[in-house]
Amino acid sequence: MILTQQLDRMDRAATASDLYEFSAKLYPICRSITGNGLRQTLRMIQERIPLELQEVPSGTQVLDWTVPKEWNISDAYVKDSSGRRIVDFQKCNLHVVNYSIPVHSRMPLSELKKHIHTLPEHPDWIPYRTSYYKEDWGFCLSYAHAVSLPEGEYEVCIDSSLGDGHLSYGELLLPGTSNHEILISCHVCHPSLANDNLSGITVATRLAQLVAKTTHRYSYRFLFIPGTIGAITWLSRNPESSKRIRHGLVLTCIGDRNSFHYKKSRQENAEIDRAVAHVLKHSDPSAKLLPFSPYGYDERQFCSPGFNLPVGCLMRSVWGTFPEYHTSMDNLHLLDPESLIGSLKVCASIFDLLESNRRFKNLAPFGEPQLGRRGLYPSMGGISPEKELHARLWTLNLSDGNHSLLDIAERSGLPFDIVCESAELLFQKGLLATAD
Ligand code: ZN
Repeated sequence: MILTQQLDRMDRAATASDLYEFSAKLYPICRSITGNGLRQTLRMIQERIPLELQEVPSGTQVLDWTVPKEWNISDAYVKDSSGRRIVDFQKCNLHVVNYSIPVHSRMPLSELKKHIHTLPEHPDWIPYRTSYYKEDWGFCLSYAHAVSLPEGEYEVCIDSSLGDGHLSYGELLLPGTSNHEILISCHVCHPSLANDNLSGITVATRLAQLVAKTTHRYSYRFLFIPGTIGAITWLSRNPESSKRIRHGLVLTCIGDRNSFHYKKSRQENAEIDRAVAHVLKHSDPSAKLLPFSPYGYDERQFCSPGFNLPVGCLMRSVWGTFPEYHTSMDNLHLLDPESLIGSLKVCASIFDLLESNRRFKNLAPFGEPQLGRRGLYPSMGGISPEKELHARLWTLNLSDGNHSLLDIAERSGLPFDIVCESAELLFQKGLLATAD
C-alpha cells in the first residue's frame, strides 16, 4: 500500500489546496487541441513533473485521421455601433467558438445572430462550442445577453490564425522493475473549464509526483493529450508501447462533489475493471459502475477493437450529464479540494492494488495448517480478529497458484488490503510461496 501510505503521510489540507490552486492557475488559459495555450499548459505541468513535450506536424497521417492545422488566438470581440466591446474574449475565452477562423467585418444583427450560440435552458450561462474539423467562426453568449442585443450594425473581430504548425502533447514514463505498463491519460484541450479537463490534469500530475517517489513493479505512462486526436496520434506513433499496457485509466471530471462513476473498459472484466470496482466498493458506497460504450473520452480510442486495451474511465459526475458540463458554470466553484484529494486517493488505492495483486501457492495444502502453533490464530484483542482469521483461511484455501489476491478478496468479500496483509504474513511464516 505504498502510494496510499505516502499520501497519508502528507498534510491532507495542504495537498488538497495545492490541487485546487494548480487548477486555478491553469484555469484562465485558452487551450485547444493545438496551439500555444496547450503548450503553455504542458509547460506548467512540466514545472512539476519531467514531462516530455512532443510536437507532431500538421498534416501528419495518424491512423485514419490527419493532424489538423494549428490554431492560435490573441483577441476577439463584438463591438456595438458606439465602439463598445459588448462581447470580449479577454473576459471569457468561452465567448469564441474554439478553432474559429479569423474574421474582421461589420454586419447587421441578423447576420451576426447566425454565428451566435446560446443555451436557452440556462439563460445566464455561456456554452462551450468547438469547430475543429469544419472551418467556421462563432461567438458563444448567455441567452439573456444575446436576446438583449439591439438592432444595428456590429463590428466583429476574431484575431486568430489557422495554419501549418504542430499538435503538442506531453508524455512521462516512470520505469518500474517490469516493462508492463499502467497508462494514465487525461485530455488537456479544454479552455476555461474546470471539472471537465483541469481536475484530471491536476490529479494526474500529482499522481506522477507520488509514483516517482516510490519503487514500483509496473512502469507508469502518463499522457496529457488533446482529446480524440491526441489519443489517436499517440496510438499511431507508439504501436509497440501500446502493447505493453496492462491496465489504464482515463481521468476526467473528478473534481466535483458527486460520488464516483467508473466506465468499464471494452473488455468489461479486465483486472483494471475489477480493481476499480473493488476499491470503490470499499471506499464509496454510492459509487456506480457503468458498462463500456464506444462514446465518451479517450477510452474510446484505447478501446477501439484493433487495440482493445484494458482502459476504463474514472469520473465523479459523468461527462455530458451534469448541467454545468461544457458551460461557463464548469468553473472553479464546481471544484472541491476535498473531492480532488479523494480522487487522488482512490487512484493511489487502485494502483497499490494492481502493484500487490499476485498469486501464491499454499505449501501446506493437505488439511488446514495449524494456525495456533504458528502464532497465526488472531488474538481476541486484535482490531478485527474475525476478519483477520477469515482472510488467512481464505488466502490459504484459494492460494493454489491460480487465484490472485484480488480473486480471493472478491470471493471472500474482504477488503484487498486485509487479504494482502494476510498473504504477506503467511509468506513470512513459510506457508505460502510466490507463484508468479
Ligand atoms: Zn469535454
